[in-house]
Amino acid sequence: MCIVHFKELNLDEKILHAIEQLGYTEPTEVQQKVVPVVLGKQDVLVKSKTGSGKTASFAIPLCQLVDWDENKPQALVLTPTRELAVQVQEDITNIGRYKRIKGLALYGKSPFAKQKFALKQKTHIVVGTPGRVLDHIEKATLDVSKVEYLVIDEADEMLNMGFLKQVESIIKLLPNERTTMLFSATLSDRIKKLSSKYMKDAISIEIDAAEENAPDIEHLKYVVKDDQKLAFLEKLTIEENPDSCIIFCRTKERVDELVDALDKKGYTADKIHGGMMQEDRFEVMDDFRKGDFRYLIATDVAARGIDIEDITHVVHYDVPLERESYVHRTGRTGRAGRSGKSIMLVTPHEDKFVNAIENFIGFEITTGPELSPTAVAKNRAEFDLKMQEHPEAKKSKGDQLNANITKLYFNGGKKKKIRAVDFVGTIAKIEGVSADDIGIITIQDNVSYVEILNGKGSLVLKTMRNTTIKGKLLKVHIAIK
Ligand code: AMP
Repeated sequence: MCIVHFKELNLDEKILHAIEQLGYTEPTEVQQKVVPVVLGKQDVLVKSKTGSGKTASFAIPLCQLVDWDENKPQALVLTPTRELAVQVQEDITNIGRYKRIKGLALYGKSPFAKQKFALKQKTHIVVGTPGRVLDHIEKATLDVSKVEYLVIDEADEMLNMGFLKQVESIIKLLPNERTTMLFSATLSDRIKKLSSKYMKDAISIEIDAAEENAPDIEHLKYVVKDDQKLAFLEKLTIEENPDSCIIFCRTKERVDELVDALDKKGYTADKIHGGMMQEDRFEVMDDFRKGDFRYLIATDVAARGIDIEDITHVVHYDVPLERESYVHRTGRTGRAGRSGKSIMLVTPHEDKFVNAIENFIGFEITTGPELSPTAVAKNRAEFDLKMQEHPEAKKSKGDQLNANITKLYFNGGKKKKIRAVDFVGTIAKIEGVSADDIGIITIQDNVSYVEILNGKGSLVLKTMRNTTIKGKLLKVHIAIK
């Protein structure tokens, strides 16, 4: 069976519309195979790598299946890292936008109380890291009694990071009647055991690496002594002159050192590692996306969940100790059909790690061409010129979707006994506006936020300035965030 159009997957028009706006013209292989199975509520075990479109392969059917009227979460997605949780939640929000699907990300190192408050609102799909999700379930701030769908994303990484116990504790607290989906880049015995323990008659789907849309990435390696890495990196960046580059180091100390050293040399650089507050990590990622700096220095925490289209180079300043990390790091470039370059600096005694990586990826990484001093000197002027330029802002997948959306703020909420239906009832009566133009509605004690879709924000804003809701005239303006 070969499905070539999303239309053949029996999806709601609202979901098809969002998919189209995201620029997905046809389903990827994993989507072709997984979407129908999940829509049929069958358990599924999927071997597939990041970059294959696997997030949408579960996000699309989840958005289709959840019942909008139910207030309690119906689907739970577990991810190994906070960045990935946010990324998946964003994908779900984008895909479910016109169906007004409310997704919420829960993760550590971020205020519990804020998440607790958000969980009191209608939430269809919760995405989170195991520790924080378990914490919320145990404190009864996350009600899982209506959870019908469980996704364990990047299960191999989840086990590598030591989350097995927490994942099992969560599963045991979920209703037995459910559909379970497990995604993993590798199907080790431990993964198979996990799947046979908690899944029923799971259909196994393997997406061959070769069949995936292999991204166009050039892999190179250089042997460099550790104390010469900085000088080498300088030559390399002058030679390559990347538009946008992520440099991976093994530890946060190495990241701190390198970012300071590059700063001193005039590079526009910033960093992200596990020792930073989560909000700071998000801010750095946002700045990187906006083009505030060209070089992002990171530990492996950043290798997951960074879905930015225009990263031209990934440099492994330190060889990754886990062979899988090489694949995840490298996967940050060559996204969305673009080409990319992965360059690894290897110290003279690291052959065994490099061999393990090469065995894992199935080919030998080419030794890079010599960086001759004359060639480097020749490129210096061009490099300096680029240093003065502001990097281009990178595209975000939801840009087109978001361009048509205006979020409105109203100064009234629960305390004024205002409910979502009151907003829908009033706004849908405006001439030229229908209920389909209303997106996610968030009602708090004293304020509410209503998304207006399809470019109708200014019309609604203008009208609502003189229109009452439940007999009350509320102050309305465009929401700041
Ligand atoms: P993932 O494997 O989920 O990390 O997805 C990799 C990238 O592919 C993401 O940027 C997605 O937005 C994008 N993507 C997912 N499905 C499609 C599709 N059907 N067509 C084009 N791009 C897609």
